[in-house]
Amino acid sequence: MLDAIVIGGGVFGARLAEWLAAEGRRVELVEREQDLLLRASLTNQARVHRGYHYPRSFVTAARSWVNAPRFEAEFRACIVDTFAHHYAIGRTGSKVSARQFRTFCDRIGAPVTEAPAPVRRWFDPARIEAVFTVREHAFDALALRAELRRALEGAGVRIRLGTEAVRIAAGPAGGLRLTVEGPTGTTELVAREVYNCTYSRLNALLHASGLPRIELRHELAEMLLVEPPEELRHAAVTVMCGPFFSCMPFPPRGLHTLSHVRYTPHRTWADGPSVPWRDPDVARGPTPPSQGPAMLRDATRYLPLMAGSRPVDSLWEVKTVLPRSEVDDSRPILVRVGHGLPGLTCIAGAKLDNLYDMFDILAPGPAATREAAR
Ligand SMILES: Cc1cc2nc3c(=O)[nH]c(=O)nc-3n(C[C@H](O)[C@H](O)[C@H](O)COP(=O)(O)OP(=O)(O)OC[C@H]3O[C@@H](n4cnc5c(N)ncnc54)[C@H](O)[C@@H]3O)c2cc1C
Repeated sequence: MLDAIVIGGGVFGARLAEWLAAEGRRVELVEREQDLLLRASLTNQARVHRGYHYPRSFVTAARSWVNAPRFEAEFRACIVDTFAHHYAIGRTGSKVSARQFRTFCDRIGAPVTEAPAPVRRWFDPARIEAVFTVREHAFDALALRAELRRALEGAGVRIRLGTEAVRIAAGPAGGLRLTVEGPTGTTELVAREVYNCTYSRLNALLHASGLPRIELRHELAEMLLVEPPEELRHAAVTVMCGPFFSCMPFPPRGLHTLSHVRYTPHRTWADGPSVPWRDPDVARGPTPPSQGPAMLRDATRYLPLMAGSRPVDSLWEVKTVLPRSEVDDSRPILVRVGHGLPGLTCIAGAKLDNLYDMFDILAPGPAATREAAR
């Protein structure tokens, strides 16, 4: 019997599998794609959140301020810090004023300064009340994949790629039996513990196994990939806090992503015990027409130099959050230990630095020690 199986080779599953393999425990990682980090852990905005983005959720902001440095220290080689991040505050329609934003940064202890005059002049003063410059970095998911793969190999974790977990049930000797379908057909794996880290497809395994589904919200998200104007090559801009936009470096492609609160979500739907089951990979539907032109048009109203960006491509992914995130924009991690079966733990991360909240929940003491040892 294996000690543990982790389902899902995104950042959460991969890092968790490595952590579980400490002290010679036998751990396998099951990923249905042909490589690690091909889904949400690759297709996202690449921001290592330090909290500035969450003025409406003090806990999320404060946790980000604590966790981001841990992430940056652990994955130093994957961090891109060669740009300045400017947070602009909209005059109308914003849920936060410049004064409130500054007070909020002081409360979480995050340094913030007024942006230099040349940067302030980028923005339309009729629409933007203030611009602040902060230190907030991006991560390179391709470097992260290489680093996690090395760490998994070093820890002796067996990685089964192209392998889908399809069902879970109670197994022999108090363990769990996981049915997987992979290149060699259908296989039964037995383990003492199973961790479901499949993010948007968390409920797929639960549904197929007759276990209670967890309440989630999904959206089909589009981010426009642009070649930024010269001024933004070494900069990121986020306009707070309402129906505005962010433009950030996206290291895996050497371009910037443009995302917009109004145009990035194409479809949203609820998932959980009270609604009929729809697999998110099916519910996302066929790729709709891009809303990139609308994103660019609106962003240009606030930041006229955006007119000089060149659209290259769109990135699409299902984004999954907890229902309460829709109210206060919080991004807590979900960790359900013993969900439906003893030994089965379900985890959905919400943002990458939440890794450390996961360790703190699963094993407060040893997590910190292992992190320090890496
Ligand atoms: C548009 C967008 C923008 C975002 N921006 C940011 C940001 O700027 N900063 C930030 O920190 N976070 C951001 N996030 C959130 C972040 O991407 C996620 O929190 C994180 O990637 C989740 O990691 P994960 O390992 O849980 O999920 P994933 O990376 O999706 O990994 C889950 C894995 O499970 C696999 N899988 C699914 N079902 C099965 C099965 N049955 N059997 C085997 N394998 C299976 C999938 O193939 C996938 O590889 C964003 C997300 C989106 C979608």
